Amino acid sequence: MDFDYDLFVIGGGSGGVRAARVAAAEGAKVGLAEEYRMGGTCVIRGCVPKKLMVFASEYREMFENARSYGWDVKDGDFHWPKFQSHLASELDRLEEIYRNLLRSSDVAVHDSRARLVDPHTIELADGDKKTAKHILIATGGYPVKPDLPNADLGITSNDIFNLKELPKSILIIGGGYIACEFACILNGMGVEVVQYYRGAQILRGFDDEGRGLVADLMREKGIDLRTGTNIVEMKRASDHNPDYEGGTSSDAAMIEDHEVITRKQTSDKTGPIWVKATNGTERVFDQVLFATGRSPNTQDMGLEEAGVKLGRRHEIIVDDYSQTSAPSIYAVGDVTNRVQLTPVAIREGMAFVETVFKGNPTKPDHELIPSAIFTQPEFGTIGLTEEEARDQEPIEVYCTSFRPMQTAFAGRPDRILMKLVVSRETRKVLGCHIVSPYAGEMIQLAGIAVKMGATKEDFDRTVAVHPTMSEEIVTMKTPMRTA
Ligand code: NDP
Repeated sequence: MDFDYDLFVIGGGSGGVRAARVAAAEGAKVGLAEEYRMGGTCVIRGCVPKKLMVFASEYREMFENARSYGWDVKDGDFHWPKFQSHLASELDRLEEIYRNLLRSSDVAVHDSRARLVDPHTIELADGDKKTAKHILIATGGYPVKPDLPNADLGITSNDIFNLKELPKSILIIGGGYIACEFACILNGMGVEVVQYYRGAQILRGFDDEGRGLVADLMREKGIDLRTGTNIVEMKRASDHNPDYEGGTSSDAAMIEDHEVITRKQTSDKTGPIWVKATNGTERVFDQVLFATGRSPNTQDMGLEEAGVKLGRRHEIIVDDYSQTSAPSIYAVGDVTNRVQLTPVAIREGMAFVETVFKGNPTKPDHELIPSAIFTQPEFGTIGLTEEEARDQEPIEVYCTSFRPMQTAFAGRPDRILMKLVVSRETRKVLGCHIVSPYAGEMIQLAGIAVKMGATKEDFDRTVAVHPTMSEEIVTMKTPMRTA
């Protein structure tokens, strides 16, 4: 049978674009459909704009630190519209790079939503149908809000980059990557941040000591982090009390513990949001951000009709080679709900091409993936947490915590954590956890050693680079504890 394409990719994010380009480079005739902007979550409304916001938010502390180093630096105001317009043009530039890469790879781009008609046929939004020998679903995910009346009053990480103005106060719901990163970013930008997390400690699944230090430092830097707390009710402040006039951050701080709101209403379409928490407190915020997880983008795509099985969380079920239950259809990235990280989606896309177009069956490697949470300070991690490792085998824990030279000189109480979890039997480093400025950069490099199976003695044999923060990772001589 003749097909229009050898490969049709649905979704122009990190995984889809990489797979399309690499398959085209192998001589495949490739088409790709994207309904929104090229680049996907990572480039358009995730990693990239988030990291630029991290950079923007760090200047306030840097200016303060600079004074301790003898610089005559005046306090300045952060100008959100100026940053935002620069951010928008940077994202335009990056999107254009993605488009050019596809163009120069001879991938036919369809700026359209696409859905499956059968295991080899795709229908575009205008009704045009395309056939393909293989189809790759790389549609990513979307942020979800809890099932709560009026949850639509809140925003998600998708909206934050497009806010017309920075709120004076914000309530962030959640304790995962996105909640903690935006709590730090917005706090750095001068927004009054309150964060509710329903569990006992933020960043569930990460090393306990690291989580504890990040939480402590977030609080020390001014974030009002409330654990064991969730939202139970939300309304426009003007609906909660018709006399309400509209709020500001200072109102948000003050209106607590059932304090009565006594202002005149301005608008019921926009304006501050009244929130009630599980602990009974009531407060008003300019914005509420739900960072309560992400769900795979599988709705209304004709997947099940085409024979693609979905899991309980609406994810596409794939085998080790990213093949779905319909043999001609594969899926990579967040839509499969394996590991929701850009570089993992890219690896999965490349393994798919290796398997299907290069005749070399390749499983993407999901073992020992380094990652970083871009909180302030950052939290870099690879391998097992202390808690996971001690359930598995006898371990030694090497751990140090200290004040980094740069900010200690500026009188800041910041602390760093460096931790190695070591197998007592094989001496291998099973996990490495770093809470520190630039921990994301550090864990990338430490990750190579851990991935190679380095032992504690390999770390010890490496000479320290002095004076650095990361030298502590090779100078920890005595285990802090064994388990
Ligand atoms: P996460 O799954 O990391 O966190 C979701 C948070 O929301 C958890 O704290 C969860 O609590 C809480 N939550 C879930 N449902 C509710 C509810 N109904 N009410 C209150 N709280 C709730 O998701 P994120 O959205 O933060 O991030 C999604 C993924 O994106 C991450 O897993 C990560 O893979 C990726 N990502 C990676 C980044 C990086 O590499 N730096 C940055 C940003 C995202 P509980 O713990 O109790 O379940």
